[in-house]
Amino acid sequence: MKTKLLTLALFIFIMPCMLKAQTLNPFYQNIVSNVSYDSLLFSLENFENLGVKQPGTQALDNTKNRIISKYTWEGYNNISLDTFTNSGHTMYNIVITKTGSLYSNKYVIVDGHYDTRTGTGTNDNGSGTSIIMEIARLLKNVNTEYSIRFIHFSAEEEGMVGSGHYVSNVVSPQNMQIRIVFNIDEVGGVAGFPNDTIKCESDQSSPGSNNATSAAFTDTLATLTHLYSNLKTAITNAYGSDYMPFQSNGNIITGLYEYRESSVPHTSNDLLINLDTSYVYEVAKAATAATLYFARAYDTTTGFNELQPTAEDISIFPNPFNSSFYISTSGTQETHHLVLFDALGQKILSKEFSSNCEIAFPCAGISIYFYNIINESGEVIKSGKLLHVEK
Ligand SMILES: [Zn+2]
Repeated sequence: MKTKLLTLALFIFIMPCMLKAQTLNPFYQNIVSNVSYDSLLFSLENFENLGVKQPGTQALDNTKNRIISKYTWEGYNNISLDTFTNSGHTMYNIVITKTGSLYSNKYVIVDGHYDTRTGTGTNDNGSGTSIIMEIARLLKNVNTEYSIRFIHFSAEEEGMVGSGHYVSNVVSPQNMQIRIVFNIDEVGGVAGFPNDTIKCESDQSSPGSNNATSAAFTDTLATLTHLYSNLKTAITNAYGSDYMPFQSNGNIITGLYEYRESSVPHTSNDLLINLDTSYVYEVAKAATAATLYFARAYDTTTGFNELQPTAEDISIFPNPFNSSFYISTSGTQETHHLVLFDALGQKILSKEFSSNCEIAFPCAGISIYFYNIINESGEVIKSGKLLHVEK
């Protein structure tokens, strides 16, 4: 559901196909090449045939059961329901967990809602629902360093009630560690028109503490979209969908939304014939690549992955240091920047590195530094305090 359309225009920038940071990863490309048009079409038709999925309807319950069966069929066994009540109806978020090999307690959340309003919601949000299930199908036997949680939220159309419940009752009390929330909502486009662009949505709302990181993830999402699909991208502001309760909670979010906005959502005309299945197919390729990248999928036979290190991979020592310190990168080949600031925020040093290195650093009587480590996407992946002691 998207209602605040007016605010959007200000934030749209069409990005040309300009690629820099990432290059095509053959392991990822191979997985993306298995995105199946037929599988997506089958899911969309199924979703439509299940009917109007409003709270309290048999259709909504049947859709829930169909989604669970699909994951069970694909071999997932960690499936749980997050149950809540909305206007007297018991409703369910469907949560499927795939455990990561290295950071099992930190999650990439790939989410979208499956409830609909007035119509069958084949675009809003059968499109996102089908793509999420397709990603899950393709990633079932792929190793990822981070855990992935595929979440199909309910009661989004009632005001993001399901995602709000999940954030207040699971994410917040459990202090769940989330790398990124990747929301997919209404990505069907408009039948009979060229649908060649997708909105990549970044956090531009308060609290702003994570907005820069969200922007970096969203830039990455756009870059991957150019690499792995034939779509162009527009960076726009995130609003009006299930990532927003996470956003309010201070989590890092990004999302996909159709660029050419359909007029049929929330009507009985939100049907397969009114969306563009080829567009859904391209969006699915972009979303699959992004999930692989965000969760750091890797090939166990070659150990090959994107080689983009995370905060956990880079360390600075000793701390406190005296005349020099070391950066350990645990094997990354990506170029990073270390930027040191003094307590007043003045930049003292900026150093590029792509492997382990020693930084000899004559300190002018300063005892406390602050540092940022910035990746090629401009994302601050680590920051902290570095202490200097005179010998
Ligand atoms: Zn929606």
